[in-house]
Amino acid sequence: MLSYRHAFHAGNHADILKHAALSLILTNLNQKDKAYYYLDTHAGAGLYRLDSDWALKTQEAATGIQMLWPQRTRLPLLKPYFDCIQRLNSQIGDKDLPLNYPGSPWIAQTLVRSTDHLVLIELHPDDEKILKSNLGKQYKNTKIVVQDGFQELIARVPPPLKRGVVLIDPPYELKQDYQLVTDTLAQAYKRWATGIYAVWYPILATQRDHSATMLRKIKQGTYTNLLKVELKVQGAQSEFGMHGSGMLIVNAPWQLDTQLNTILPILTEVLAQDDKASWTVEWLKEPS
Ligand code: SAM
Repeated sequence: MLSYRHAFHAGNHADILKHAALSLILTNLNQKDKAYYYLDTHAGAGLYRLDSDWALKTQEAATGIQMLWPQRTRLPLLKPYFDCIQRLNSQIGDKDLPLNYPGSPWIAQTLVRSTDHLVLIELHPDDEKILKSNLGKQYKNTKIVVQDGFQELIARVPPPLKRGVVLIDPPYELKQDYQLVTDTLAQAYKRWATGIYAVWYPILATQRDHSATMLRKIKQGTYTNLLKVELKVQGAQSEFGMHGSGMLIVNAPWQLDTQLNTILPILTEVLAQDDKASWTVEWLKEPS
């Protein structure tokens, strides 16, 4: 049943929104000495070649990171994210485009400190093997688990470290993923109400879009701090296109909304594929 492979999509506009938000959250957590916990429920392979057959088949990076890369100095808030990509592509010259792209586990492993703890969960046995060979053995503070990310999240919170962030990034191949996200988030929050949760979701053409319903249901929960950021790179497409994506952040760190409001206009301008490109940063529940 596991047919989704992130290698087809690495470095696309949705990865940029997700990884930009993730790097802002981790940079914020790094401002305090106290160690924290990072849990990735759907980790993927950790590292991707943008000239692989898979990536070239969809060419999604060409309208994603490869479009953004030459404009990166306009986004100083995203320097930690761009530095991570630069280190992976140390041989490239000023005019070249990156061919190695980091997944969320790589970004997290690069940004956390040696005292922080990472748990990376991936169900696909092939991706889990690649993830392990990409980064597993090098770091003592990282645990890679081949399991269902939703069940593991509930089993692993509250974590031994009090501070932390959970990235929830399922493929939404199956319609039930939307309800699973809603239910799992509610259960995890009940057990660990102070954790930060960052949920990625796709924005699809209306007849296939279940994200708005998911957000409505999550908003009805007991959360006290819910921040939503969305980036649409074009107007709604035919039945199968993903024209945008969003991140819902529970317990958003202080000033994340301001930072997102600073970067989104530039990301939208650079990644726009037509004149319907747009962005929003909105509190669904604003902390008092
Ligand atoms: N978070 C990654 C990143 O940003 O680089 C990308 C993850 S990709 C969108 C989703 C991943 O979830 C795929 O690698 C897929 O194999 C994996 N997956 C699918 N169902 C899963 C499940 N129930 N539990 C854990 N992983 C799952």
